[in-house]
Amino acid sequence: MSAAKSLGAPVPPGGTIGILGGGQLGRMLALAAARLGLKAHIYCDDPRAPAFQVSAAHTVGKFADQAALAAFARACDVVTLEFENVPAESVAHVAGLVPAYPSARALGLTQDRFDEKCFVQSIGLTTPRFAAVDSAQEARALFETFGRRAVLKTRRLGYDGKGQAKPTSGDEAAAAFAAFQNAPSIIEAFIDFDFEASVIAARGRDGSFAAYDPPENVHEQHILRRSVVPGRLTPRQSDDAKQIARRIAVALNYVGVFAVELFVLRDGSLLVNEIAPRVHNSGHWTIEACAVSQFEQHVRAVAGWPLGDPARHADAAMENIIGEEANAWESYARRAGALHLYGKGEARPGRKMGHFTQLSPLTRA
Ligand code: AMP
Repeated sequence: MSAAKSLGAPVPPGGTIGILGGGQLGRMLALAAARLGLKAHIYCDDPRAPAFQVSAAHTVGKFADQAALAAFARACDVVTLEFENVPAESVAHVAGLVPAYPSARALGLTQDRFDEKCFVQSIGLTTPRFAAVDSAQEARALFETFGRRAVLKTRRLGYDGKGQAKPTSGDEAAAAFAAFQNAPSIIEAFIDFDFEASVIAARGRDGSFAAYDPPENVHEQHILRRSVVPGRLTPRQSDDAKQIARRIAVALNYVGVFAVELFVLRDGSLLVNEIAPRVHNSGHWTIEACAVSQFEQHVRAVAGWPLGDPARHADAAMENIIGEEANAWESYARRAGALHLYGKGEARPGRKMGHFTQLSPLTRA
């Protein structure tokens, strides 16, 4: 291992950050790395990955291809990821050759909704009530136990509402489990939250910690529609959210940026919904509203650089541009605000094509 690849030394300007995954998050990470004089090398199995367009190097390869992964790792000074479904084994393989953050352990834990919730509770934080579901009969019985208001989710590989069902009867709960092809699942109490929020935070290689102000998030059809900061969170709730993130980061010995999705209840309390071990859609507003965005923060963290200041200099509202909405790019371009388009070819329904951020004067520090 060269000096730059040893654990302690930061990756100097001119060094290469390897990124597993080539979507818009990898693209925005690559752009942030470039601004710091670092190169991005993207690893993705899609030859048309949006991140390839803005990166110094790329490899088209499958996450299961150990030889391709090894060649990629050797070309990088540090490796990270932009997609939480990268197999934890692939990260472990890479980590044998080059420093890799977040760790395979942190990634593996957050890939399984059951393990993740057990972990969150084990460090004294609160989640919705949940239980493992391993058969259709169990789904039916637990639906009753949970007071007939519950959400069924596969333990693994769900995103943007995929692998999720909201049954209204025991029969529907059993059918939903069957529709998941009997994949190991969990059942969760349906939470009548006041609103949703998230906190995006970073932990450096040296254990330093920085959290952004938590936005309020609005979802439509399980897809994030908009994030607004400060939103309806009180200063006290914002602080609580940051403390939740800090506890999770320390317990996981986490390095990099991550997000914690939260349900805000009417009594003011916060429940942890899930942890995303990567930069997060609800943090895109940090590009314009903070001196150091979540993308730069992640690059800094994994490269062993000092973390940047997460303070906001403006209020912000970020709106996703989804599917065919991207056809209206000219009208977005006419509006006052920052337009981001991800360079994706086809505007399929539900596909995140870009986002648009508007700033307004800071109402609360
Ligand atoms: P998830 O993939 O777990 O983040 O869920 C996606 C979205 O579904 C969340 O952001 C919520 O809007 C909704 N949701 C998930 N779990 C629950 C729950 N237990 N109660 C109410 N809504 C939920």
